[in-house]
Amino acid sequence: MTAGKQSANVFAGVDSFYAATGRPWSSSAALQGEATCEVAVVGGGFAGLWTARRLAQAGRSVVLIEGGAVGRAASGRNGGFVSAGFACDIDTVAERLGKDHAKSLYLLSAQGREAVRSFARTRPDHGIDMVNGRLKVLRYDSQGALKKRATRLARAYGQDMFYWPREKVREHLATDTYYEALEDPTGFHLHPLNLARALAADCVAKGARVHENTPVTGVRRAGSGWRVEASGGGVTAKHVVLACNVAAPGEGAVVSGRLARALLPVATYVVVTERLGERLGEAIRWKGSIADTRRAGDYYRVVDGDRLLWGGRITTRIEEPADLAALMRADIARIYPQLAGAEVAYVWSGLMGYARHKMPIIGPLAKGLWACTAFGGHGQNTAAMGGEAVADAITGADDRVRLFEPFKPVWAGGPFGRVATQLEYWRLQLLDWQEERQARRSLAASLEGRAKSRVE
Ligand SMILES: Cc1cc2nc3c(=O)[nH]c(=O)nc-3n(C[C@H](O)[C@H](O)[C@H](O)COP(=O)(O)OP(=O)(O)OC[C@H]3O[C@@H](n4cnc5c(N)ncnc54)[C@H](O)[C@@H]3O)c2cc1C
Repeated sequence: MTAGKQSANVFAGVDSFYAATGRPWSSSAALQGEATCEVAVVGGGFAGLWTARRLAQAGRSVVLIEGGAVGRAASGRNGGFVSAGFACDIDTVAERLGKDHAKSLYLLSAQGREAVRSFARTRPDHGIDMVNGRLKVLRYDSQGALKKRATRLARAYGQDMFYWPREKVREHLATDTYYEALEDPTGFHLHPLNLARALAADCVAKGARVHENTPVTGVRRAGSGWRVEASGGGVTAKHVVLACNVAAPGEGAVVSGRLARALLPVATYVVVTERLGERLGEAIRWKGSIADTRRAGDYYRVVDGDRLLWGGRITTRIEEPADLAALMRADIARIYPQLAGAEVAYVWSGLMGYARHKMPIIGPLAKGLWACTAFGGHGQNTAAMGGEAVADAITGADDRVRLFEPFKPVWAGGPFGRVATQLEYWRLQLLDWQEERQARRSLAASLEGRAKSRVE
């Protein structure tokens, strides 16, 4: 366990829509001096919060240590979409591990989604603002393949998906870009920062100690347990859970070199527009969340009545582009030309931690040392599921973490990994573009054929 360079920047606040509309949270004091507990959790994002909450619920003594504010990183600034599944497509998991193993994992991911739903439902006063329904839109005519996928997801994983033909998509989304869609009635969206704060408040209510503004500089063995070194003090614990995700290179202390080497930071960007009035409702009539099926596609939803939250542009380039707001406005206008010129009120970026296998790393790294990380771009449900699974493994309530044994922390390739991943993203984007072009051509050919036969 190494102590890395600490910069103030990584723990700085973010000027996001969520930060601006977040419910007040009485932040917890930084750690001062020494503490002893059964479990120390490092990281106050969803992974750490769900772990600490479950442990506290089971009556264990827990100290959660967060370098900045709870939810300051990916968890409090994400798109807010919650659905079953993982960053890695479940069919890829099935190819590698077989259908039964993949199904067990998928069901766990769905349990994570339900854990979020039931927590949010029982906290109506925290501004979590849950809105049901999720659409996956396709930018080309799949010629029946999308319908088949819906049937297969239902049969193989028990996941209900409703197929939407183009006319129905157009009734809800006034754009020529999309051809078909799958509606996931079990998906929903919410205010992620308020969720993180509500989770933190619940941890405290259940007896956990939460210390913010306490960067951890290292974790080392101490007798039969572990010692967490932090600014202002330290924690001695029987178990330590590492739930730190990724930070930009040179920013933030590297708590575990092994995990840091296994995680690749991937950036994604989000904007929220100024109020757009009626024209937003005319363009987007669907109140749930929307994402296209591209490999690095757009994801968006209407928030606060008449603002558009729009995310996208997944890249291994982790420095924020200077003209980010303009780039995102152009992305919006490409899909909805009627929204061209929409002013951007908030713009921010966030980092997702991906393992090479694109699955979470959940389970023991050594006796008493646990990983709960690498949730990639699909962390709302999986971090809830992972945190609870690690907590249950520590208390001995359950050993479902073993299902994640095949997903070890393997070296992500360092700078070569970033280059290779970026090249892979570009290759996949090219494939998307080719698929869409091909589909448009065959559609144009069939329309031409139909027009000709009408004339003849
Ligand atoms: C812009 C964006 C959009 C996204 N959209 C979605 C979405 O719509 N749906 C979805 O399911 N997922 C989405 N994701 C992914 C999801 O947000 C993440 O997978 C999830 O939040 C990861 O949670 P985490 O707790 O592992 O990490 P984080 O939320 O990053 O938390 C890690 C915490 O550890 C702390 N930490 C790190 N190092 C130290 C240290 N040395 N000492 C003390 N504390 C430390 C950090 O300060 C941080 O608060 C998105 C991610 C981003 C960035």
